[in-house]
Amino acid sequence: KLSRNSYDDYTLNYTRQNDSDSFHLRENATILMLVRNSELEGALDSMRSLEDRFNNKYHYDWTFLNDVPFDQDFIEATTSMASGKTQYALIPPEDWNRPQWINDTLFEERLRVMEDEGVLYGGSKSYRNMCRFNSGFFFRQSILDNYDYYFRVEPNVKYYCDFPYDPFRVMRLKGKKYGFVISLYEYEETIPTLWDAVEEYLVASEETILRKEDSAYAFLTDSGLVGKHYPVVEANSDYNLCHFWSNFEIGDLNFFRSDEYKHFFETLDAKGGFYYERWGDAPVHSIGVSLLLRPDEIIHFDELGYFHSPFGTCPASYAVRLDQRCRCKSDDESVIDITPHSCLMRWWKNGSGKYFLKEEQDEI
Ligand code: GDP
Ligand code: MN
Repeated sequence: KLSRNSYDDYTLNYTRQNDSDSFHLRENATILMLVRNSELEGALDSMRSLEDRFNNKYHYDWTFLNDVPFDQDFIEATTSMASGKTQYALIPPEDWNRPQWINDTLFEERLRVMEDEGVLYGGSKSYRNMCRFNSGFFFRQSILDNYDYYFRVEPNVKYYCDFPYDPFRVMRLKGKKYGFVISLYEYEETIPTLWDAVEEYLVASEETILRKEDSAYAFLTDSGLVGKHYPVVEANSDYNLCHFWSNFEIGDLNFFRSDEYKHFFETLDAKGGFYYERWGDAPVHSIGVSLLLRPDEIIHFDELGYFHSPFGTCPASYAVRLDQRCRCKSDDESVIDITPHSCLMRWWKNGSGKYFLKEEQDEI
């Protein structure tokens, strides 16, 4: 904590004058956006959408993170758009920048190769910092210390439907630790050796992690699932490339802050793959979550319509879409839910349905 003092000076708090008296019970949670000053317009669009569809009834705090100080313009516009408190924090350089031990020559060489191969963000240095930060450091930011849950939001996303419940409340009451809306296949060329690193981690942590059959491990592998209803993936390993799309996630910060998750991240980080390759935070979160949590601790929010280019999700039920005033149709071009790009069918088969909690059945 002490070493962060100079950055704490930059931790700013604002509250918009609120004219609404409506009151809802609130969980100990914050909406969280990592964002650049240049993305203000997109940030405001996302805020407008989430406020209209959910937060205007709850007034959860908005927390903004950035690797450079936020502009006054950014602070004023986002504070005005929020129905809850807004707060802004500067990420310490040691949580963002490329570590010293990364070999610069090798790094530059790999960057050039991936750029030439046309890998998405293959030549970007800042994208790599962002992915490593989101994988291993967002939950260590001191501004989040007193929260239990976060809801990740990105600029330029849309929430298609009114939220039928407070997802934070669902998380706490049902004992969920990670929530997603879309899952799909990762580009293999961004993670050639990620699964090798995971296998090393599995061998080294055999004693301390969940047994494979108790965790959501089966969601990540093809064992017994390859068939005509499931696309065969040409992975050079057991990993089927499925991941939860992390631009939308609702998570339990205490899970990410746990020694188990941090040890998982640090084992992967030491391989250098965030820089020598282009490991994304989505596969890293998804693999960590699937190895360390039981399937019943992960929730697919299937009533929350959502869009992040180029994919969206839309409730399949016509009645739900009317009831929640959705502005999507399940056969829209961008809706990925039951298309071959989606891993949702694998999730249904091997994830949530596998371990339905007795108490949950009784409640329903
Ligand atoms: P994509 O969704 O994979 O195409 O990547 P994005 O460009 O949307 O980046 C993911 C998230 O990280 C978004 O919330 C961005 O605003 C944020 N982000 C990406 N790069 C940076 C950066 O260099 N600085 C900051 N502060 N945020 C970044
Ligand atoms: Mn994005």
